[in-house]
Amino acid sequence: MDNVVVIGAGITGLTCAFQLKRRGANVTVLECQDRIGGQINSQHIGDFIFESGPNTGVVKHPEVAELFEQLNGACEQETALESSKQRLIWKGDKFHALPSSLASALKTPLFKWYDKIRILGEPWRKKGNDPYESIGSLAERRLGKSYVEYAVDPFLSGVYAGDPYKLPARLALPKLYNLEQDYGSFIRGAIAKAKLPKTERDRKATKKVFSARGGFSNLVNALVDAIGQEHFITSALDIKIMPEGDGWQITFNKDGEQRQINASKVVTTCGAYSLPSLLPFIEKETMDDLSNLYYAPVVQVGVGIKDCGDNQWLAFGGLVPSKEKKQVLGILFPSACFEGRCPKPGATMAYFIGGRRHPEMLNKTDEEFVNLVNETLNDMLKYDKNKKADEIRVFRHEHAIPQYEASSDARLAAVEKVQAQYPTLRIAGNLRDGIGIGDRIKQGFDEARILCGE
Ligand SMILES: Cc1cc2nc3c(=O)[nH]c(=O)nc-3n(C[C@H](O)[C@H](O)[C@H](O)COP(=O)(O)OP(=O)(O)OC[C@H]3O[C@@H](n4cnc5c(N)ncnc54)[C@H](O)[C@@H]3O)c2cc1C
Repeated sequence: MDNVVVIGAGITGLTCAFQLKRRGANVTVLECQDRIGGQINSQHIGDFIFESGPNTGVVKHPEVAELFEQLNGACEQETALESSKQRLIWKGDKFHALPSSLASALKTPLFKWYDKIRILGEPWRKKGNDPYESIGSLAERRLGKSYVEYAVDPFLSGVYAGDPYKLPARLALPKLYNLEQDYGSFIRGAIAKAKLPKTERDRKATKKVFSARGGFSNLVNALVDAIGQEHFITSALDIKIMPEGDGWQITFNKDGEQRQINASKVVTTCGAYSLPSLLPFIEKETMDDLSNLYYAPVVQVGVGIKDCGDNQWLAFGGLVPSKEKKQVLGILFPSACFEGRCPKPGATMAYFIGGRRHPEMLNKTDEEFVNLVNETLNDMLKYDKNKKADEIRVFRHEHAIPQYEASSDARLAAVEKVQAQYPTLRIAGNLRDGIGIGDRIKQGFDEARILCGE
């Protein structure tokens, strides 16, 4: 039986530990915080449930569905309500629905007429050949500038809290990049891919938006129970991983005492910024490449309203293009997606602020965020001028979303090099393989398979 140490108890580490345990490995999860869940942290505030981190994931890989199946009812996967499907984009002085049909695409005021007509020529436009072309430049070339400003830019804010002109498409949105490279066009590629035969397992992957019933922390709790509380060591500080014989020696400080455990295999699932202190035996040049990854800071503000009157926002959320120069990146409506997040007829909202373009927003005081929210309730969400939120909580994330910028090639090469040199060490986490909950779950499965030699 392998002794495997997993560093980090976020969704990646938990999924990986669970899959290792299912394969009979003896797992220990080391976590530096005094709580488990990493960026997942659902909070019950008064009558509301707020997420401090992710509100939703997408069932983009079969592993997401399989994780809930394996948990055998201990945690219920909750799919977003059909009525919350609509996506909104801010333009001028209000939110507009993102078009979902040809008729609405022709009518929408979001895009310029010139671009609406020009998009018909997308299948015949020339293929790009710059491997570092930004998403902004690629989309501008194929679709037109107004699509970048009012679709791509807000979409990138929603996913990466990022800047479309700083993220190379090949590294940050590889599926989109490959549509052009493999099929010569987004439209032709999307049609061809939809026609590809699918196995029953492939069909488990969908575009459905999900959470765990009652909040994402219920998924964390179910995973902890399935792995066994006794396999976790929290508040494990100053962890150092060193090669020893055929395996690994891991030292750390717990409650002021120095401790040591030995393992045959180790997988790290924490952010790139944690690696220099965790892996002191790796030479500086390689470590510089491994840890060279900027994480955009994000402030999420949870907002609860007990009674919305007849102003219910039945939508997934609204995103704000950077061109519109608002202080928020977007506002999600979690209670429109999932049951039981607030008293009826109330609502919960999640404001996203800061990101790649405005890291300074992290320094605002709670009072400033409260004022911002209460102003936007009227200005953006069209509530009466006197309407105030009943609960507001500010959650600051200094290292929120990794930006897969041009440095990623060197980082991924360094990961490969270290893993080739030390086959019983895996360097996982959101420094590679995608930033969404679905990607993290898939990576947890993949790493467990690799560690077990499958
Ligand atoms: C505000 C916010 C909103 C988001 N919204 C969405 C969303 O709507 N949809 C979506 O799909 N994704 C979203 N994400 C992204 C998603 O939450 C993350 O990709 C995912 O939770 C990361 O999981 P992880 O386990 O890889 O990393 P983490 O959750 O960061 O877990 C890593 C763990 O490692 C621990 N650790 C770090 N250093 C050490 C060390 N030296 N020793 C021991 N332990 C260490 C950390 O304390 C942490 O617990 C959001 C993220 C944020 C911050």
